[in-house]
Amino acid sequence: MSTKKLIATFFLLGTFSFSNAGIIKVVATTMDMKSIAELIGCEKISATSIATGYQNPHFVDPKPSYIINLTNADLFITVGLDLEAGWSPQLLASSRNSKIQKGANGYVDASVGVNLLQVPSSLNRGEGDIHVYGNPHYWLDPLNGKIIARNICNGLEKVSPENKAFFEANLVKFNSTIDAKMKTWSAAIAPFKGAKIIAYHNEWCYFETRFGLHIVDFMEPKPGIPPTPSQLVKIINEVKTNAIKVIISSPYFTTSSSDVVKNQTGVKVLTLANSVGAFDTIKTYYDLFDYNINLLTAALK
Ligand SMILES: [Zn+2]
Repeated sequence: MSTKKLIATFFLLGTFSFSNAGIIKVVATTMDMKSIAELIGCEKISATSIATGYQNPHFVDPKPSYIINLTNADLFITVGLDLEAGWSPQLLASSRNSKIQKGANGYVDASVGVNLLQVPSSLNRGEGDIHVYGNPHYWLDPLNGKIIARNICNGLEKVSPENKAFFEANLVKFNSTIDAKMKTWSAAIAPFKGAKIIAYHNEWCYFETRFGLHIVDFMEPKPGIPPTPSQLVKIINEVKTNAIKVIISSPYFTTSSSDVVKNQTGVKVLTLANSVGAFDTIKTYYDLFDYNINLLTAALK
């Protein structure tokens, strides 16, 4: 290599590393947290998610490869409660990254300030219940998305105070987009207010409450417990008695037991998106609601 070329390469590499130097490295546990972080942090951040959008967020295999990202991260975002209790604390500890441990500036619990639903009066993991602190699927209410965004914005400002105005401006944009889209989503679902549905796992209560639906029962007798024969009989009776039109599920659950109910009653089985990335077309937090509301309203017609 000539001296000229060597100098050119040196400057190219130099420019490259400088352009990356200010980028805030974010690791989120789920794709929903990653999407909201990207909408607030935009080009100032580089974000990854540990769980994919089509994975059950309660049960993620804590692969050692995830630790590398955590070791280099400036900010860690968790859904919190006991959603990731089975895998994220051990990954976080293994990262040995003091910047992102609980209590540090780079640790964001996105659930702070969320009005939790189904909080049990006592902590009880009886029969394998996996929602012991209240229902952790709160991101499925778009207005909770605004609380998540505020928490993420606070975290970004702590690790990068020089960009505070930039993040705040993006938060304003995020909130106004949610408000505008809420009008469309609410109008689309309004004709189906009070519609009775069955859900596979108890992960739709925030969505149900926000949009005025009525989830009558679950295929799982308790969160995390697969459908039992007696539960199937109960569901078949409920579908018939209440003229229920749909069972909603997520990509990571088998439809075999829902199909039994379908064959007995003619109910439709819908696989909704529980997270950004559940299907290829769901690329942002906004897409999540567009997708679910389109599919659900078509099925309830
Ligand atoms: Zn759950």
